[in-house]
Amino acid sequence: MKFEKSTGVKGAFIPRSALSLSGFIEDETAALHTLPGAVVLLKKRMTAMEMIRTVDSISQLAAELLTELAAVCGPCDECESEGCPYEEVDGPIDLPDYLRAEAGIPKDAKLCAEVNEGEKSVTIYATDHQHDLTDIPQGLMPLLGALGVCLGELEQKLITGEVVHNG
Ligand SMILES: [Zn+2]
Repeated sequence: MKFEKSTGVKGAFIPRSALSLSGFIEDETAALHTLPGAVVLLKKRMTAMEMIRTVDSISQLAAELLTELAAVCGPCDECESEGCPYEEVDGPIDLPDYLRAEAGIPKDAKLCAEVNEGEKSVTIYATDHQHDLTDIPQGLMPLLGALGVCLGELEQKLITGEVVHNG
């Protein structure tokens, strides 16, 4: 169950009723897990069954978020006629530090490569976006594939950094 908070997260507190719905009893000790993009309050002591329920509910929430993202991007067959803008990613492009420094490319800048056909050369340059498909954890790629998400569309959303979840 989701409790709406219309104000900002500053000074956020968890209503007693919410804790009680999640099975926390009075004086229960809890551990706050600060994760990238989420804060999770877990019971400090759990039985095996409580752990199973917790794992199940966290998995369900993750599945809901992934399904939402998949819906925002849409299925890939819609772009079949024009060709999906997604091209196979072989991991990030690397450049030795001295070449980066020489070219004035910041250490953390993402790199892009362009093959100069017929010249037997490749142009490597810093992109002006922060994120793209190379930032997706490897474990998530098969799930996105199984959902039929258009990776070209997803990459566009990663590049523009637009808000895709609001609620
Ligand atoms: Zn596509």
